[in-house]
Amino acid sequence: MEDLSQRAQQELEKMDLVNFFSDEEEFAPEDQHMNEEPAPEDQQMNEDFSKVNIATEESFNDKHNQMRLYRMFYDNFFPYKLYFHWLNYDITPTKNFTHREFSFTLPNDIYIRFKSFENAELLKKEIERLQPIKIDIGAVYSVQPKYKKTVSEKAFKPTEKELVFDIDMTDYDEVRTCCSGGDICLLCWEFMTVAIKIVDQSLREDFGFKHIMWVYSGRRGVHCWVCDERARKLDNDSRKAIINFLDIIKGGAHVSRKVKLPNILHPSLKRSFEVVKQHFNPLLIEKMGILDNEESWNKVLDIIPDSTVREKLAEKWKDNYKCSANEKWDMLVKEEEKSEKKKKFKDPFLRDIMFQYCYPRLDVKVSTNINHLLKSPFCVHPKTLKVCVPIKPEECEHFDPITVPNLNTLRKEVMEFDQQQNTDAKLPDYKKTSLKPYIEYFDKFVKSLLSETIQSKRDAAEKSMEF
Ligand SMILES: [Zn+2]
Repeated sequence: MEDLSQRAQQELEKMDLVNFFSDEEEFAPEDQHMNEEPAPEDQQMNEDFSKVNIATEESFNDKHNQMRLYRMFYDNFFPYKLYFHWLNYDITPTKNFTHREFSFTLPNDIYIRFKSFENAELLKKEIERLQPIKIDIGAVYSVQPKYKKTVSEKAFKPTEKELVFDIDMTDYDEVRTCCSGGDICLLCWEFMTVAIKIVDQSLREDFGFKHIMWVYSGRRGVHCWVCDERARKLDNDSRKAIINFLDIIKGGAHVSRKVKLPNILHPSLKRSFEVVKQHFNPLLIEKMGILDNEESWNKVLDIIPDSTVREKLAEKWKDNYKCSANEKWDMLVKEEEKSEKKKKFKDPFLRDIMFQYCYPRLDVKVSTNINHLLKSPFCVHPKTLKVCVPIKPEECEHFDPITVPNLNTLRKEVMEFDQQQNTDAKLPDYKKTSLKPYIEYFDKFVKSLLSETIQSKRDAAEKSMEF
């Protein structure tokens, strides 16, 4: 026993966090030494970089150019070490990392699943060798995923994964009027802000999760990674229960009323409604203009259960076509008050309309299946070339997806920095660019996860010493 606790103590000493994360370490000697001597063709690539045309549309679409930019990103920007610490939840390799599925999409669109790595160095080497245009993260399995084919199907089971959420702007096409499909703009991005606020608050306050990372998907949505140990160990049924609790928008395109909540709201929804109320008017009435034309306001009218109210309003709105949308909404509020006053069983449909137009629309499948893959943070979106950066939930209101750095901006920023001040040659490239705050935030997030691992090891060591 003594031997064990001694060993635990030694481990802890080795894991001094302060020394472990020196500021420069991310890209410093150890990483460099992971790099192999560049092959002649790689050197050629690097030299060619100076000739890359950054600003024009043409170059953006040029596949060859794109692959050079990817290479630059994997050589100089991808935070391998932090990434390893995040998925490993410890400093020396654990099953969390070694048994984790990674999947790569290669430049020729070949898709490789069930890759796994013993440590950060091997992951780095493989990424640099294959230059994936997309990296997905899967579950931790009972057997290292790369050995999947050598064991029976029964023996190969997913055991853990972060609880994840995927919110995609395309699911908002029936409520947004500014864009559709893959397009987004600052107006409709507010739907994502609302989603982050509501889901983040619920995960923290209703479920007690602490380690929650939000990530911009690189194009038209956000992902959420709940990394608490308790969340990682949830089975599919518990994941389903959490999603069912959060998912209140039900029914396909043919269903007009998709939200029907009880008169008295659950405290969690009551809290969410505060967020909905804050955004409904500016976002839906003003920015989306859902009451500005007949086609769009008819969708609102269709939700109203009482046909007399519905018909009355249809007439009023048509008669007062030039009224502002806010005035139209006030007419609706008044009509609801009048009609509900007489009823014994209240149906607060106005509140439900607000929920239906504002509340987060979750991709249920992604969250409920433990082995579902999700695009990795710090992956580059192959269409926009934007980096999938983390979003601080407390500052989500100020997050602007349009200004997120893409590979072209990163390249340009490094060149500009180097031209202006060539004194600090050792500075890692990410620090010369607009990617810096995102990596620093990720660093902070990972540190808080690791300090928890260290604390729980310390507690276990102390406990074993007591006996
Ligand atoms: Zn838009």
